[in-house]
Amino acid sequence: LTFSVADIRKTFLDFFAAKGHTVVASSPLVPGNDPTLMFTNSGMVQFKDVFLGSDKRPYVRAASVQTCLRAGGKHNDLENVGYTARHHTFFEMLGNWSFGDYFKRESIHWGWELLTQVYKLPAERLLATVYAEDDEAYDIWTKEIGLPPERVIRIGDNKGGRYKSDNFWMMADTGPCGPCSEVFYDHGEHIPGGPPGSPDEDGDRFIEIWNHVFMQFDMKEDGSVVPLPAPCVDTGMGLERLAAILQHVHSNYEIDLFDALIKAAARETHISDLANPSLKVIADHIRATAFLVADGVIPSNEGRGYVQRRIVRRAIRHGYKLGCKTPFFHKLVKDLVQQMGEAYPKLREQQERITEVLRVEEERFFETLAHGMEILDSALAGGAKTLPGDVAFKLHDTYGFPLDLTCDVCRERGLGVDEAGFTAAMELQKSAARAAGKFKMDRALDYSGTANQFTGYEHLTSTAKIVALYADG
Ligand code: ATP
Ligand code: MG
Ligand code: MG
Ligand code: MG
Repeated sequence: LTFSVADIRKTFLDFFAAKGHTVVASSPLVPGNDPTLMFTNSGMVQFKDVFLGSDKRPYVRAASVQTCLRAGGKHNDLENVGYTARHHTFFEMLGNWSFGDYFKRESIHWGWELLTQVYKLPAERLLATVYAEDDEAYDIWTKEIGLPPERVIRIGDNKGGRYKSDNFWMMADTGPCGPCSEVFYDHGEHIPGGPPGSPDEDGDRFIEIWNHVFMQFDMKEDGSVVPLPAPCVDTGMGLERLAAILQHVHSNYEIDLFDALIKAAARETHISDLANPSLKVIADHIRATAFLVADGVIPSNEGRGYVQRRIVRRAIRHGYKLGCKTPFFHKLVKDLVQQMGEAYPKLREQQERITEVLRVEEERFFETLAHGMEILDSALAGGAKTLPGDVAFKLHDTYGFPLDLTCDVCRERGLGVDEAGFTAAMELQKSAARAAGKFKMDRALDYSGTANQFTGYEHLTSTAKIVALYADG
C-alpha cells in the first residue's frame, strides 16, 4: 500500500469529515491583518481569532491542509534546509481543530486511529511526548491507547523559564498557546539521533510527525497567560514527513513530489548526482518562492518581500555553485505546477506571472553574483576563519548578497561571518546617509521590487527594518 501525497491529503480530510469536521480551504501564506506574524506558519493561523473568542464560525470542528512557510519570525527553518531530512521552508500541514468542542481525549484517540488503522503505521515504531505537568494526556496515552510508559516522554521547561518547553506550543510571542502532545516515528537504529528529550534529539532517527496542541491560554506581552474562553484543540501534521514514512523512505526529500522536483533541478543545473544537497535546497526554495508570488509577495528590500528575495537568491547561489552562469531557477516553475497545480490551482493560473517574477529577480542577481563570489573568495583566500564584517556588508550593499546567503556560503566551508561587524558597517552607512540628507530620499524610493534595476541605493532603504529582520530569526 503506497500513498501519494494526493492520497494522503484526501484520506486525512475524509477521515475528519466523517467525524463531523468541516473541511476548510488553506489560507494564503500572508496572514490577513496580523502584524504579529510574518507568514502563515501553521494551520491554526486562520483560526487565531476563533480561539481568542473574537471571531465565530458556523462550525466547532474543522480540518484543513494548510500551506505553511517557516522562513522568518518565531518559526524559522531556512537554516535547516539542505541539512536535515525533515525541514522545509514551505510545507503542507494537515490539521484538525476543535473550537470549544472536543478536547484531549478525542484528539489523541482519533489521531491514533488515523495513523495506525487508516494509514497503517506500525504502532511499535510510534512514541509520544507530553508536557511534563500534563498527567491527563500522559494517562490517555498509557492507559487508554496502551503505549508502554517508556515510549511516552514527559518534556519539561527545559529551555529556561516557565513555558519554555518543546511541549508548550506558541504561534508567536503572544497569542493562543498551550501544552501539547506530539507523536514521533522511529526510522530505525541505522539513523543517528536520540529520542525526544535526549541530548541528541535533533538527529533524524526519531522524527516528529504530529503535534496535538491543547489550546488553553492567551499569552500576553508581559508573559502572563489568560485562559481562553473555552479549551480548544489545534493539531498539525507535516504532510511530507508522513509521506516519507508511507512511501518507505527516510527523508522528506525522497518522496514522490520531491523526487520530481529534484530531478527537474538536476536537469536545469546539469548535475547527475541526485544526492547533491544543493538540489534539495533548490527544490525546497522553488516551492516557497512560487507560492509566495502566487500569494502576492514579490522580491523587495522590505519585510516579507525581503524574505522572498533572500530565498530566491539562496537558491540561485546554490545553482551557481553547481555551475550555472545564467538563469535556471524560474524554469522549475513548470515542474512545480505539474506536481502541485492540481491541488493548488492558483499555481497553474499564475504560472506565467510566477515564472516572470522569478526570472526578473534571477537576471538581476546574476548581474552581480559572480563578481560578489570573487570578492568573497579572495577575502577568504588567506585562510581566514571568519569573513570580516565590512566584506559581508560590501557584498550586501553593492552585490545584493543578503547576510544569510553569505553566512550560508561560509558555513559550507566551515567558516563564520563577523555579523556584529556587518551590523556596525550597516549602521555607519545609515548614519552617513542620514547626515547627507539622503535618508528621506531613499525612503521615497521605497518600492515593491517590480521592474526596478539593481542599484546601490536600494540597500539604503529602511536598513533598520532589515536589521530587525535578522534579529527576529
Ligand atoms: P521540529 O521539532 O521537527 O522542527 P516543530 O516542533 O517545529 O518540528 P510544530 O510547530 O509542532 O513543528 O508543527 C507541527 C508539525 O508540522 C510537525 O510535527 C511537523 O510534522 C511539521 N513541520 C514543522 N516544521 C516543519 C518543516 N520545517 N518542514 C516540514 N514539516 C514541518
Ligand atoms: Mg521546528
Ligand atoms: Mg518539535
Ligand atoms: Mg512540534
